[in-house]
Amino acid sequence: MDRTLAADLVRLPELLDATRRAAAEALAALDDRPVVPPAAEPPAPLPLPGHGSGTEQALAEFQARWAPRLSASAGPRYLGFVTGGATPAALAGDWLTAAHDQNSNSALDGAGQHLERETVGWLRELFGLSEDHTGTFVSGATMSNTTGLAIAREWLGERLGVRPAEDGAAALGPVRVLSGAPHSSIAKALAVLGLGRASLVRVPTLPGREAVDPAALDRALADTPGPAVVVANSGTVNTVDFDDLRAITALRPRHDFWLHTDAAFGAFAALSPEHAHLVAGLDASDSVCVDLHKWLNVPYDSAVQFTRRRDLQTRVFANAAAYLGPLGAEPDLVHLTPENSHRLRALAAWFTLRAYGREGHREIVERDIACARSLGERLDRDPAFRLLAPVRLNVVCFTLAQDPTPERLTALREAVAAEVFVTPTVHGGTAALRAAFSNWRTTQVDVRRAAEALRTAAKEIA
Ligand SMILES: *Cc1c(COP(=O)(O)O)cnc(C)c1O
Repeated sequence: MDRTLAADLVRLPELLDATRRAAAEALAALDDRPVVPPAAEPPAPLPLPGHGSGTEQALAEFQARWAPRLSASAGPRYLGFVTGGATPAALAGDWLTAAHDQNSNSALDGAGQHLERETVGWLRELFGLSEDHTGTFVSGATMSNTTGLAIAREWLGERLGVRPAEDGAAALGPVRVLSGAPHSSIAKALAVLGLGRASLVRVPTLPGREAVDPAALDRALADTPGPAVVVANSGTVNTVDFDDLRAITALRPRHDFWLHTDAAFGAFAALSPEHAHLVAGLDASDSVCVDLHKWLNVPYDSAVQFTRRRDLQTRVFANAAAYLGPLGAEPDLVHLTPENSHRLRALAAWFTLRAYGREGHREIVERDIACARSLGERLDRDPAFRLLAPVRLNVVCFTLAQDPTPERLTALREAVAAEVFVTPTVHGGTAALRAAFSNWRTTQVDVRRAAEALRTAAKEIA
């Protein structure tokens, strides 16, 4: 054994303690350090060492060179994109995931898979899905959407009497994927799956909304020769609008379509009695995408993919190899997603659900919603700003009241970046900003700090 490696093995508990201290310091600083440090050139790349200097030295170098450049994205005022943090239990679970370093792939060494199935069962219950849905962990909502649409592709094949997984997507002929305001990852998934970005057909949304117009969807389906795929959106990223899933499901008797629902963060509306109606009917979906590294507050990367047709899923993802077992009633995870090897990703979710339960996670969701609402109210009262949509759930979509050019909005974002991080968008042709609340640590104190920083910066750039 390399001498440094052998020395690290002897000192392992001590090294883990030093790492734990570094983690605790980073977490303790989240409230006070810049949310996004000022842009700086990256440090000059170091050469690959011939002989390394051990974990202690690597930790010291990371702390000096890289840690200060990282954003406080685990903290309460990183409101860009839709970003969750990591609850204490989720972090503990993630640490142990690495410590146990499982590749839970085979029934012969099946505990990891069983743990994942137990966790999926809890998630299914959390989001109000029935036992007809099976689920699998994947790395994020993009991969969940890709997996769901791969199953949809196989379903189109079933309808048309061909097998895309065997013969290629071309066997299907032209395909139509209908959606009102799909996330960008849907087009990416279609590109990966050989259906092509051009197969995505935009269906008109309701006036002034991002939710699909069910009557327009009805017409688009009537115009589609053969079976189609509908991507319903439960929580759009700009205004968190929700397609009416029951209205879409009601089109089923008259049209032949696969219903994939992208509920990446919108599924968490199910946890709040006041908002659960937004995802009513989710269970009727043939496949469902839910991100976990957003509103469940587990560390990156984690999402879940649900489907009612695991038989089609294994047709696509079956990984035939002499050393892997036959498919069986409970297929090994290797046969269910694009991944073969995969970490025990479910453990962080298992920990946080075990530690805080449905009520603990409901409280996080409702607190974030209340924070979004109050930031919306503050910006609405501030003459410097204008809301571009009502705050339906956890995102505030707003812009400058005067002259909202992308340049001025960038200046505003930069001026507040130490205090609050928001990301740009365009809504209804207007350049805008979004503040998305999905972190477990965020409170009304953070809302006040964010609103104050925005107010001050708007004056400065006026
Ligand atoms: C975030 C998001 C995605 C993509 O998620 P990743 O985890 O970044 O892959 C897809 N759809 C919606 C609605 C999202 O919010």
